[in-house]
Amino acid sequence: MNNISILGSTGSIGTQTLDIVRDNPDDFNVVALAVRSNADMLLKQIEEFKPSLVCVYDEAVAVDIKDRIKEDVTLVTGMDGLIECAVIDSADMVVGAVVGMIGVRPVIEAIKAGKDIALANKESLVTAGHIIMPLAEEKNVSILPVDSEHSAIYQALHGENRKALSKILLTASGGPFRGRKREELVNVKVEDALNHPNWSMGKKITIDSATMVNKGLEVMEAGWLFDTDIDNIQVLIQPQSVIHSMVEFVDGSIIAQLGTPDMRLPIQYAMYYGQRVYLKGDRLDFAAISHIDFEEPDPETFEGLKLAFEAAKLGGTMPTVYNAANEYAVAKFLNREIGFLDITSTIRNMMDRHIVIADPDVDTILSVEQDVYSMINNMKG
Ligand code: NDP
Ligand code: MG
Repeated sequence: MNNISILGSTGSIGTQTLDIVRDNPDDFNVVALAVRSNADMLLKQIEEFKPSLVCVYDEAVAVDIKDRIKEDVTLVTGMDGLIECAVIDSADMVVGAVVGMIGVRPVIEAIKAGKDIALANKESLVTAGHIIMPLAEEKNVSILPVDSEHSAIYQALHGENRKALSKILLTASGGPFRGRKREELVNVKVEDALNHPNWSMGKKITIDSATMVNKGLEVMEAGWLFDTDIDNIQVLIQPQSVIHSMVEFVDGSIIAQLGTPDMRLPIQYAMYYGQRVYLKGDRLDFAAISHIDFEEPDPETFEGLKLAFEAAKLGGTMPTVYNAANEYAVAKFLNREIGFLDITSTIRNMMDRHIVIADPDVDTILSVEQDVYSMINNMKG
């Protein structure tokens, strides 16, 4: 029995994690759930999965929900509450499925508490990978990737000598705007950007896929997870999202992981520590697919990808600036305050102004995040 705590249980990854729990009641027990404000869904999850601790980050919503909880469960709130869920004694594994840099502190605290991490929250690795990876090693904690590409790489490396890895081929769908040129993206609407061809995901990552900033974040994520130089990572468009990523070894051999675009597979693979367990769902039908295509990404149109390589090479606080500028700009785009192309130009602007601080600690990372937000606010009237 694996006792799990899910940070972000009402989201796309969180609900699919609970689908796996529901289908495998003998293998998993939910001990804690954390959300920001979705009280109605949380109440249903409490009733079904009976955790002993829940966090509602938003304090007003937490006050509101208190009397509606019938079960015997402790309710906590805010960052302290989120961290309580991350370090709860009874958990063996924490599923990091909150969106954004809010995940940085809880993920680090969970590792300090010796919890294995099924990690979807890529923003924490992008901004604090230099803290998270050595800490996990020191605490003998497993970081199991949930992101489909990183799960694919992890699966392809299984049983291999890591030193024989020469290159990572990180695949991308290209998102809803694949093949378009910059000038064609000036007036795209929020609805167009949310219309992902292959994957159904939370709003923020769906916009990140449209800008290809998601792939930029994933390049940095892969660098940390697999201890690989950024220059050994090649991004390749694979529009059908059938090949989830590949690795090339020193002898020229390439191993790929394939499957239907279904996040439950990488989530389950992480939850079972890489054990293969039956998963219901469609199987790939190669005769029906008939062909798999590849394309080079277009770095001029999808500038976010190019900027990610720059940020990764500069290191220190620059990936935080890249990520924080993106988080803020995506929120503004979703709120229809800025245009689609303004997302990546905001990232570029913020990176241009920033002087890198090397090897930042958590407080520095989070204060740079706040500085970026105020700078963006001050830029525009
Ligand atoms: P969603 O927006 O669907 O869900 C986010 C979850 O985090 C919700 O449960 C939300 O609660 C919760 N949350 C947000 N802020 C807080 C907070 N301050 N305190 C506590 N909980 C909070 O996101 P996704 O599931 O799409 O993505 C989650 C992470 O996984 C992201 O880092 C994303 O990049 C990564 N990922 C996602 C994939 C996908 O298929 N969705 C694929 C690969 C990676 P509430 O509902 O109350 O707002
Ligand atoms: Mg991914």
